[in-house]
Amino acid sequence: MAIRAAVGGAVQGVGFREATRRRALELGVKGWVRNQPDGTVAVHAEGPQAAVEDLLAFLRHGPRLAAVADLHTERAKVEGHEQFAIRGVAAGAFVVQEHMASTHHFDLRLEVDGVMRSWALPKGPSLDPAVKRLALAVDDHSLEYNSFEGTQSKGGTIVWDRGVYEQGGRVAWPEAIERGHAVFVLHGQKLTGGFALQRTGRAAGSQWLLIKRRDEHARPGFDVLARRPESVISGRTLGELLS
Ligand code: MN
Repeated sequence: MAIRAAVGGAVQGVGFREATRRRALELGVKGWVRNQPDGTVAVHAEGPQAAVEDLLAFLRHGPRLAAVADLHTERAKVEGHEQFAIRGVAAGAFVVQEHMASTHHFDLRLEVDGVMRSWALPKGPSLDPAVKRLALAVDDHSLEYNSFEGTQSKGGTIVWDRGVYEQGGRVAWPEAIERGHAVFVLHGQKLTGGFALQRTGRAAGSQWLLIKRRDEHARPGFDVLARRPESVISGRTLGELLS
């Protein structure tokens, strides 16, 4: 069974999410917990009925420092989660570097386990959910490279966007990447909201698609590359850097 719960009261900032995740792991319940903007804590829980009911019993009181005032629950669809995640928290840094080398492209890098997992985007990212952009998995980079901007032997690089990102999806990272379907939320200056990286073709191949998910940050028809070409560090375009 699956339920959605909304927990009200003094429930944020008291270790509620961490305690809920710990209890869910003990019970074998899957899903997620997240702090909502209205001060409540939202929970999606799925698993055997007895285990989900045990987690609900925990939510009625919460951890020691919490004061639960009310708990609303409703039945939900089983979504096939394979983890119990804390949602809405930054997993690390992301950066998009515009790079002129033997070809012109953008590099999307996401911090995963201490390295920047990287994809080269020949046509760059898009905020339009109807646009699927080719993303070629390339070598990991170090975190130190995230702020690199300057000329190089065959061209140069600017930091086109950067910020932090949240990991999403039903499967824990980095396994989500290994399986070829990674969902995440970007908090950049130009790229915001949900995105998906979907591997195409054969399982071990390097070809992926980067797709903007449909949410309030989607901008159908908006050409973010043309409208916001400048570095978020220097304000220069790559053309200005290279001229
Ligand atoms: Mn590159």
